[in-house]
Amino acid sequence: MIEIKNLHKSYHMGKNSLHVLKGLNFSVAEGEMVSIMGSSGSGKSTLLNILGILDEADEGTYTLDGTLIKNLNEKVAARYRNKFLGFIFQSFNLINYKSALDNVSMPLYYQGVKRNIRNEKAMHYLEKVGLADWASHLPNELSGGQKQRVAIARALASDPKVLLADEPTGALDTKTSYEVMELIQGINDEGKTILIVTHEEDIAHMTKRIVNLKDGLIIDDSLVNQVRAKTEAYV
Ligand code: ADP
Ligand code: MG
Repeated sequence: MIEIKNLHKSYHMGKNSLHVLKGLNFSVAEGEMVSIMGSSGSGKSTLLNILGILDEADEGTYTLDGTLIKNLNEKVAARYRNKFLGFIFQSFNLINYKSALDNVSMPLYYQGVKRNIRNEKAMHYLEKVGLADWASHLPNELSGGQKQRVAIARALASDPKVLLADEPTGALDTKTSYEVMELIQGINDEGKTILIVTHEEDIAHMTKRIVNLKDGLIIDDSLVNQVRAKTEAYV
């Protein structure tokens, strides 16, 4: 599903440059649930932005679902993002003046899906994340965990091939983090390919494979015994 080879990325600021990714290689098969671990500043978001076609590597190749991602203009990049990818962010990135339902249906609007179909699908995904009763509420009427569920429903709405999550539990307390991870595990159980960036060990162990980044390189890439969230235990 995802394959990167010899990926390099530097940032340039005046005369200074910072070599953040120094030749990364890995691939992710369909249906995997992988975490990208590393301390703050290790390049996790840089990598995820490249995988999310929000940024481009300086060197190396990135292939997504058999398509080489290279030198795309913004229009094509947007089309690929829409078709292939769903995004989940630490800060939810919901639109504050729109209801939960309208937030979830937004990607479908951009795909030109008709309003009634859009709302039907959005409602389906809100049900899936357990928020059907909250469809008409605005984000500021929801808890952090509920906001992230809405964001997850939005990420799922266009039925992307891959979910990319950058610190999805970074703004949540432990119990809520585990509930959100349990939801994400359930989505992976249904076959969705998922990549999660995190610096938290316990969250990484709720995925099936941990890729460890350090000093611009992958220093470890291992399958792990997935810890299943047991929400009841934390209530
Ligand atoms: P992480 O997500 O692992 O915390 P990042 O990928 O955000 O790390 O950043 C890696 C390094 O690159 C950091 O030192 C950061 O300051 C730097 N960096 C990130 N984005 C930019 C940018 N747009 N311009 C310059 N430096 C950046
Ligand atoms: Mg980051």
